[in-house]
Order: sequence, then C-alpha cells, then structure tokens
Amino acid sequence: MSTTERPRILVVGGGYVGMYAARRILKKMRYGEATVTVVDPRSYMTYQPFLPEAAAGSISPRHVVVPLRRVLPKAEVLTGRVTSIDQDRKVATVTPLVGESYEVPFDYLVIALGAVSRTFPIPGLAENGIGMKTVEEAIGLRNHVLAQLDKADSTNDEEIRRRALTFVFVGGGFAGAETIGEVEDMARDACKYYANVRREDMRFVLVDAADKILPEVGPELGKWGLEHLQKRGVEVYLSTSMESCVDGHVVLKNGLEVDSDTIVWTAGVKPNPALARFGLPLGPRGHVDTEPTLQVKGTDYIWAAGDNAQVPDLVGRDAGNENAWCPPNAQHALRQAKVLGDNVISGLRGFPQTEYRHANRGAVAGLGLHKGVAMIMLGKKLKLKVRGRLAWYMHRGYHGMAMPTWNRKIRVFADWTLATFLKREVVSLGAVENPRGEFYEAAAPVSASVQESRPKAKAS
Ligand SMILES: Cc1cc2nc3c(=O)[nH]c(=O)nc-3n(C[C@H](O)[C@H](O)[C@H](O)COP(=O)(O)OP(=O)(O)OC[C@H]3O[C@@H](n4cnc5c(N)ncnc54)[C@H](O)[C@@H]3O)c2cc1C
Repeated sequence: MSTTERPRILVVGGGYVGMYAARRILKKMRYGEATVTVVDPRSYMTYQPFLPEAAAGSISPRHVVVPLRRVLPKAEVLTGRVTSIDQDRKVATVTPLVGESYEVPFDYLVIALGAVSRTFPIPGLAENGIGMKTVEEAIGLRNHVLAQLDKADSTNDEEIRRRALTFVFVGGGFAGAETIGEVEDMARDACKYYANVRREDMRFVLVDAADKILPEVGPELGKWGLEHLQKRGVEVYLSTSMESCVDGHVVLKNGLEVDSDTIVWTAGVKPNPALARFGLPLGPRGHVDTEPTLQVKGTDYIWAAGDNAQVPDLVGRDAGNENAWCPPNAQHALRQAKVLGDNVISGLRGFPQTEYRHANRGAVAGLGLHKGVAMIMLGKKLKLKVRGRLAWYMHRGYHGMAMPTWNRKIRVFADWTLATFLKREVVSLGAVENPRGEFYEAAAPVSASVQESRPKAKAS
C-alpha cells in the first residue's frame, strides 16, 4: 500500500458498485487530487447476471469477470478483505490473502460489499448445497452436472444413476429460474452424446416458498416462465420449502422426498454479514442505512450503495409508497455507482450532493438457448411484455452491451457466435478443482519408497 499526502478514497468491495464507482471517481478526478484504493478478496469484478450462462457453457467463465487492475490502472488495488473499520481514527483493517493484517487510513469511504447467499439452518444444506453467487460456483456447477451425466452413463447401479440424474434447485427468482433454465438446456444438449442417458431419465426439480417464480418480470410473464419450464419437464413445487437435505436426501415441506447429488441454492441474498463489524447504522435486515444521496446516515464522508445498502426509492415514494426501497439488482447498482462516484467528488470539493432517483426500466431473463422473458417499461404504467426467442435476443442484447469494458463485450459476443456455429462445449473438467491430485498420486509412492530405501540416520 502506498503512503501519500493526498486524501485517500477507500472503496471497500470491487464488485458492480465498487468498480463502477472507482471508475467514475478516477474519470472525474483532477490529477493528484486523491488516491483511490479498492480492496476486494478477488482481483476481479464478476458480472453476476451472466453466471447462469457461464454455468451452461454458453460463455467462457473468464469472460464474465473483469480484472480490477486492468480496468482501474490509476487506482491502488489491494487483494484482501476489509475486516473492520475504526471511524474515530479513520482507518480500515485489511486482511490480505496471505500475511498479517494491516491498517489503511482513509479520508472518504465507499461501502460496496454486496450480498451473500441467504440461507437458513436447514439440516444438510451447508454440506450439500451449491450456491450461485460467484464465478467459481458457476464453473463448479457446470463441471458437477456434466460429471453426473458421466457417472450415470457408466454405472450399472440404478440407485447411483437415479441420484446422479436428479437435480434440485431451491429458489425461483432471477438467479434460480435462469440457472435451472440454462442448466436443463445444457444437460438436454449434452445427453445427445451419452449412450445411456436420455432427457426423460433426468429429473429437474424447482422449489420456491412463494406462489410464483420470476417476480421481477411481473405476474403474467412469471406465469409464462413457470409454464414454459413445466413444458420442458421441470417439476415445479411452489408455496413449499426444503426442510432438510442430509446426505442428499431432500425432504420438502409438502411431503415430497427425493435423493439427489445436486442441490443448488438460489433462495435469495442478504447483505454481507461483515457489515456488522463496521459500526455503521444498519436497517432491520442488516443493510447499511443511507440517505437518498447515498451518504451513510449520520455521516458526510461515507457512502454506500448496491446490494449491501438500503437506499430510499424516491420514484416509489413520490408515487405514494412511503416505504419504497431500491431492490438489490444490477440496474440500480450500476446507476447508484455513478451517482455515488459524483457525490464523492462533490464531497471532496465541498459541493452539494445529488439525490439518487431512478425509475425501473424493466427486466429481462434468459431461460436457456432461444428462450426468455422481457418486461420493458415504456412509460410510468405502460409495459412491453415479450417472451420466447425475441425476449431471449433482448436479454442477450441488453446484458451483452451492459457487460463492462469493450474487451469483455467483444469476448462475450464472440463466445455466443462461436457456440452458434461450433455447438456448445460439453466437457466436464472437474479435475481443475484438484489439479495436483494426479501428480501427487504419481509422485507420492516414489517419494515414500525413496524414503524407505534411504539409510536411516544413526542416532547420536
Ligand atoms: C446468478 C445471479 C444473476 C443475477 N441476474 C441479474 C439480472 O439479470 N439483472 C439484474 O439487474 N441483477 C441481477 N443480479 C443481481 C446483481 O448481480 C447484483 O444486484 C449486483 O451485482 C450488486 O452489486 P454490488 O456491487 O452491490 O455487489 P457485488 O457485485 O456482489 O460486489 C460485492 C463485492 O464485494 C466484495 N467483498 C465481499 N466481502 C468483502 C470484504 N470483507 N472486503 C472487501 N470486499 C469484499 C466481493 O468480493 C464483491 O466483489 C443477479 C445476481 C446473481 C447472483
């Protein structure tokens, strides 16, 4: 970390909000006006809306992440976790990937830690569940699902085969519906190459505690999405929840029991629990409480936005809903990051702050190749509702263009184009999770025999 006389703007989290806010600040800043330091345990920002497509192999996982050091060349990027903040001394404690923790002083602070999977104390969930918040999880899920097909194709044991070909997804919001849509599509495609696995042999189960899926696109399109998945053979259980999944034995509240080696948990998110150690004012569900200017309540040098903040929704409030808050999605995160960046510069120069105000533009969701739903707001009440192939093109067009940096946009569009002509890749590289395994097996016995054949040192 550099020591400098300039004021330091410390950005905690290099995700959607952190990366865009830092970019905005650097763009607006005068030469030498401040030092911008970004801290994140990952050296890249993840474009989460593309995780389901990365899990399905339509986009290379490397292309859904943006390297922070490359996109923020004028910032100081520290790879580590902020573990505490001392507001009196204005210092943050950073724990790097290796080595001792150290303190980073700051003058201005941006809190952008995002959210983590919201889980419940369900027996077996921690041991068997797979999340869908990170690119590592998307890669892992893809390898895991394809490995299940390999397993089922090559066993004579009917019990192993049935477990391997049963896939349970809990949570039918954006992340859950898109992930099951994409993964089912990939598995359907892949089974063409397996002699002993047909689509009819696979069981896809979607569970949600609510009475609908995809609430983000409204009831009509949500219903269409539900019926569409059902037509593809997905069993959907609504108004029920998973009670336990010990050793992969899934028990639902409605009485259904299935054995599965794949339990994907996409039942919503909650603000990053690390916030509890920062001494900031938190709302009832653990979000940092902010003013409409994105300044943390009671401060004039700390801002927060995105999934870890409760930001008043001024458009909703103007329409009469006094308790309207901005929902945690990329649409808001991106726009809040820009206002936040401008407000940090204004704070630095002693100018007034701007309030964040954004009217919902709609939502798009992909449910596998050539399938999707899109709801676009054309006015305050006028909505354009699209489904099927056109909605899928809109989904790809919107997210392809929203992907940060031209470098990544081009790579994503190239992946899609290549997949159109060369077909999707269906190989499982599960061994990447333990790349040293084979070498260890080859090397360990040799080392052991060498040890054994070595003359033992005489005791002195
Ligand atoms: C599978 C999936 C699909 C989605 N699809 C859509 C969609 O189609 N449309 C849409 O609008 N939204 C979608 N979203 C939501 C959207 O991606 C989020 O709302 C958005 O990423 C929030 O941005 P953020 O900056 O608040 O958090 P994030 O982007 O999650 O960034 C938080 C960052 O903080 C870092 N961090 C965590 N702890 C620490 C620490 N202690 N110290 C330092 N850094 C830390 C993390 O590593 C991360 O980089 C989807 C989300 C998921 C998971």
